[in-house]
Amino acid sequence: MEKIVGWKPSRNYDTVHCANCSNAVDTPEEEATYPDGNCPECGSPWTGNEKRSTMIMVTMPVAITGGAG
Ligand SMILES: [Zn+2]
Repeated sequence: MEKIVGWKPSRNYDTVHCANCSNAVDTPEEEATYPDGNCPECGSPWTGNEKRSTMIMVTMPVAITGGAG
């Protein structure tokens, strides 16, 4: 049985897309402005009707190969 190391669980990100510009809230700083602040990009207040999408980050398993060094 092959032993796989380096596996990290996938992470889900809820991304909010501004309704007035193409900015996507995908950084902790921008997330901090939502939903009570304004879009950092265009300055429009968040309405709660922004388009949301879930980003799933999947990391590939990394197998150890012999002879590293
Ligand atoms: Zn915006």
